Amino acid sequence: MRLEELTWPDFDEVKRRVDTVVIPVGSVEAHGRHLPLGTDTFAPLEIAKRVDERVRELGREVLIAPPVWYGHTFVLNVYPGTINVGGDAFKAYMHGIMREFAAEGFRRIVLLNGHGGNYSPLVLAAEEVAEEFPDVEVWLINWWIDFREDVLSICSSQGHAGQDETSVILAVRPELVKMERATGGKSKSKVRRIKRDIGLELFPDGVNDDPSLATAEKGLFLSW
Ligand SMILES: [Zn+2]
Repeated sequence: MRLEELTWPDFDEVKRRVDTVVIPVGSVEAHGRHLPLGTDTFAPLEIAKRVDERVRELGREVLIAPPVWYGHTFVLNVYPGTINVGGDAFKAYMHGIMREFAAEGFRRIVLLNGHGGNYSPLVLAAEEVAEEFPDVEVWLINWWIDFREDVLSICSSQGHAGQDETSVILAVRPELVKMERATGGKSKSKVRRIKRDIGLELFPDGVNDDPSLATAEKGLFLSW
């Protein structure tokens, strides 16, 4: 059930019987020369749709909220098309959205986060909501990290715009993937280095993995 498709009287009924809202959260940012800028939102949106179907099959309901497209993405901001929202503004915005759902009566807020850079602001925003609404629980799901072992049982490597993300977009929005441009490799730094143009070094062309082994089949497993 999608929030944006409901009328307000429908919503008013739904909120009395449904206690969980799922909010896909992403980022508009460079994903190599081969993936669309909306990659980090396309993936959680698809997962949310499948969660909705699966929960319905089990005879229960969740509300799927419209996605938050823009996120906090400092590192990739050296590439055109990356639209970075500062950490404080993003945290405040997410807090504002979550507290509205809490005030409407939802007791479990699930953040399906497709973008690593959102992690710290989301934790801080969720903590503020938890302070304000002690009976509300926020689930922060960063599946690329939380389910790394599962991802690596399907893909031989993982990384930004890499084999895993490219596979998912091949499965859900294949018309947007330019596989002929899918190249890259792993760049690493043992310590976290924060520098204005560090993205050029750590994410050459906006990639941090080899995406060439991506397939739609792997993507289907990853987004299920
Ligand atoms: Zn991504």
